[in-house]
Amino acid sequence: MKKENISKKILDWYDNNKRILPWRKTKSKKDKYYYILVSEFMLQQTQVKTVIPYFENFIKKIPNLKKLSNINDKQLMKCWQGLGYYSRARNLKKTAKIIFSNHKGNLPNNFEDLKTLPGIGEYTAKAIMAIAFNIPVIPLDGNVERVLKRIFYLKTENEISKDNLNKKKTFFGTSKRSSDYAQAIMEIGAMVCKPISPLCNKCPLSKKCTSFKKNDFEIKSKNKFNKVKYFEAKIYSNNHKYLLIKNNKFNFLRNLLIFPMKEVKENQFKSSIGNKINIKLSNMNMKITLSRNNFNKKVKGDFMLDKNNFNKVILPSFTKKIFKTVSKH
Ligand code: SF4
Repeated sequence: MKKENISKKILDWYDNNKRILPWRKTKSKKDKYYYILVSEFMLQQTQVKTVIPYFENFIKKIPNLKKLSNINDKQLMKCWQGLGYYSRARNLKKTAKIIFSNHKGNLPNNFEDLKTLPGIGEYTAKAIMAIAFNIPVIPLDGNVERVLKRIFYLKTENEISKDNLNKKKTFFGTSKRSSDYAQAIMEIGAMVCKPISPLCNKCPLSKKCTSFKKNDFEIKSKNKFNKVKYFEAKIYSNNHKYLLIKNNKFNFLRNLLIFPMKEVKENQFKSSIGNKINIKLSNMNMKITLSRNNFNKKVKGDFMLDKNNFNKVILPSFTKKIFKTVSKH
């Protein structure tokens, strides 16, 4: 299949199958840029289906960039509540402020300027360039990665590295409809090339797909090659209250509330007593022993959190996961 045929097939599929998403329905260019910015922040770490009601509520309460730049933090957090990863909301507001102070209220349309904005990394910058400004780039999200891994049957650590996946994107070529094209490829990943049971009979790329030919759809993730690290989390409780600390010790989840914890050696982990859980972070597989300890005044923490208030306080899902396990036993 020639590159023009690939882009035509992909766009034909998109025109007939694309989802109606609230950030795709805008009346003006200003709305369009704002909706794309908000949705791209929300979609970092969260699936489309979860984001939709939060996005609709957010836009209702904070309908434009100006309002966002002036909103007080309490109201902002209320509009984001339940979506998690709250640093995204704080960064979104900071970004809105900078757009007014440094860019005359206009969302930048180039990689360099976009990358200087808080909360905008390489992926989000490219997504904004493609989706908002019709620039011919294809952002590499989890969906596009999966499609590429399957088309080229990529299995080894080298093959699935970001560098290699970025090179493989040339397979798609380009289209004048860059915005639609980037969204179309991501949409194929989300709706057809699903993580489990891909719908190959509906896929416009099946003729080119090695996984389809081999009938092997297993996806290798870089987590598989992640380092395993071992930790002990100390659970201090007193009268249904649990001790949490603000994390300024580890690079992950910095400044967020976690249970006190330390890294341990593998043999210490294996010989430790207590419930054990596994948590995957983006670059590490954590194996954690939960050791219960008696609370006493000598123990220092930042926060005693009542069991009944766990859902009312903004906590990283990491801490919630540990709490769920602890509260079951
Ligand atoms: S043919 Fe199947 S496995 Fe290959 S890209 Fe399409 S949906 Fe994914």
